[in-house]
Amino acid sequence: MEEFKNDMLTEKDAQYLKIKEVFYHLIECNKDIPGISEIKWIVHVVDSPDINAFVLPNGHVFVFTGLFNAVANVHQLAFILGHEIAHAVLEHAAEKASVVHLLDFLGLIFLTMIWAVCPRDSLAIVGQWLQSTLKEYLFSRPYSRTLEAEADKIGLQLAAKACVDVRSSSVFWQQLELADTLSGHPNVPQWLSTHPSHGNRVEQLDRLIPEALKIRETCNCPPLSEPDPRLVFKLAMKDFLKESEKKDLNTTAEKQKVDPLPIGKQKQTSGA
Ligand SMILES: [Zn+2]
Repeated sequence: MEEFKNDMLTEKDAQYLKIKEVFYHLIECNKDIPGISEIKWIVHVVDSPDINAFVLPNGHVFVFTGLFNAVANVHQLAFILGHEIAHAVLEHAAEKASVVHLLDFLGLIFLTMIWAVCPRDSLAIVGQWLQSTLKEYLFSRPYSRTLEAEADKIGLQLAAKACVDVRSSSVFWQQLELADTLSGHPNVPQWLSTHPSHGNRVEQLDRLIPEALKIRETCNCPPLSEPDPRLVFKLAMKDFLKESEKKDLNTTAEKQKVDPLPIGKQKQTSGA
């Protein structure tokens, strides 16, 4: 609260009200789950372009306006909020903390053994570095990705119970992947990251969507509109790629018109 106190949207703000409405609709439709009805949920909206959201174990959910602007519709927003609710209900923060403690303890044993065999400061420093690097890349980050995948899975089910069009969930990650590609941001390899890659999230969600659709049916939700938003996105992508290919060809042709001399020759002239 201290960190974002100057950027918090007021409770009268239209974006705040929309996010709050979708969030409490999800809570209402899932209140039969003890973990959900026991938590006192509070929504905070931070005015920041970051595409981000997070939840604290006490039920305070922080959503950034950058995320609100990145979702294409209310269904994608509901899925993301479901993901955050799942993190809190599954007590991921506590689970993560206990695993970190266990790893620190095992690391301590490892370092003590090195020290016992060869009590030299230099070796202790190298051992400490090795231990923390291995811990980070072999345990912490893969573990963090597992928790993210679990929150996607349960978040999808929570959204399904609230009659959300769960097919939109995987489109959200496809949109982010496209945005990353267009902005020229290199995709961080999954093994380096604390979160699964966008592509892996799309794959996992597409596998889980049929089951979520069944949950949706058992909740007597109204039938979903056709066509499938994933298909709409796919077709839009095809058109977009065709258009950009055409543009590329036009730009190259124009360049050739303006630029009759090979670059090497031009350099010679300017050098003289
Ligand atoms: Zn998450």
